[in-house]
Amino acid sequence: MDVNETLGERMIRDSAELGLEMFHLDAGWFRGVGDWHPDVNKFPHGLAAVADYAHEYGLKFGLWVDWTQAGLDTGPGALNVHDPRVRDWTVTDVPPNWKPEPFKGQTIDIGEPAAHAYAQDQVRRIIEQYRLDMLEHDGYLVAQGCVRKNHPHAPPDESRMKVVKEGGSYFVESANSTDVSYHSVRAYYDIYAGLRQRYPKLLLEICNDGGRMVDFGSAAHGDYFSITDTYDPLSNRRAFYDASHLLPAAMLECYVEKWPAPRIENFRYMLRSGMMGWLTIMQDTNAWTREEHAAAKEEFRLYKDDLRPLIRDADLYHISPRPDGVHWDGVEFFDKRRDRGVVYVFHGSDQTQAEHTFRLAGLVPERTYRVRFHDHSALDRAATGRELLASGLTIRLPVGNSSELVFIEE
Ligand SMILES: [Zn+2]
Repeated sequence: MDVNETLGERMIRDSAELGLEMFHLDAGWFRGVGDWHPDVNKFPHGLAAVADYAHEYGLKFGLWVDWTQAGLDTGPGALNVHDPRVRDWTVTDVPPNWKPEPFKGQTIDIGEPAAHAYAQDQVRRIIEQYRLDMLEHDGYLVAQGCVRKNHPHAPPDESRMKVVKEGGSYFVESANSTDVSYHSVRAYYDIYAGLRQRYPKLLLEICNDGGRMVDFGSAAHGDYFSITDTYDPLSNRRAFYDASHLLPAAMLECYVEKWPAPRIENFRYMLRSGMMGWLTIMQDTNAWTREEHAAAKEEFRLYKDDLRPLIRDADLYHISPRPDGVHWDGVEFFDKRRDRGVVYVFHGSDQTQAEHTFRLAGLVPERTYRVRFHDHSALDRAATGRELLASGLTIRLPVGNSSELVFIEE
């Protein structure tokens, strides 16, 4: 929320130096909820200038927009809950003294045709005016229930209706909730299918309070998911572990937040916990030490050159129980066509367990593989598929909250 042009430009310069590929502006850039124009105090030259700046440095430009949320702004085109037209689009009335939260307001029902048309125009305007390469949506995009009787969905059953306040938003629970959501989802798919056609290169990030909209319908209309709204290493690994049973790893985004890393091993552990799918750094990298910068630059190179091709194409194996942050956990990618893969190994906080053995999967027992320990936690060696499948791969990492990447190649 504290972002501005100066900070943004400083982050863009450092991101380019680190080898990152997109500058993604999160909440905090706008005049107000429902009033999706840049705050002139923060961005005196507008957002297109920031996009241009990112492009000059070879980065894409992405933007967060909570575009189904109405607030109190009165500027032209703003979604104001007290505007009678907008009020009729919202899922329920709000009290006279209501205020939106810093980046969340009252949901409009885009299943209502006029609201649908308005939202579509706004989203297109934002993409074009601010020169977006990526659009992230957030907030309660899909209405969960609605009190209006003049919308296309079924009317609520007033004898069994509940209006619940959660944060700054009012939600409706009634017998019509499924139908409300159905119409709203159809409008969402329609808008997104239209964006695909109109802007084929635009990336679409699916987010609803982090991981509350990870589903196949969204997967068919977007590019990747924000899979969790908690960003520490353990939460990121857990979210990835869970979601990767169903969806391709490349679609699963983790935001890597600032996390206490007294040792460089802890810093790498933090980064790698978000590097199994789509990696987003949610930190001002200018605050990193010289040593952390160098380590991060090498990790990003490794991610782009060696890990990402496997994340895209390889089979994924869950070779440990769900991470608990205390014991060891790991995942394996193995690409059968290229006969190569990588094992991500994480050592939790328990320092008494300095060693762990993972039984690998997907290898051919008769083949011989080169086993390469990226951080040199052990000497590179040869092993048969049979050995790695049956006896397993033993890793020794004495430091708690540390990691290793083990490359396996025929
Ligand atoms: Zn409605």
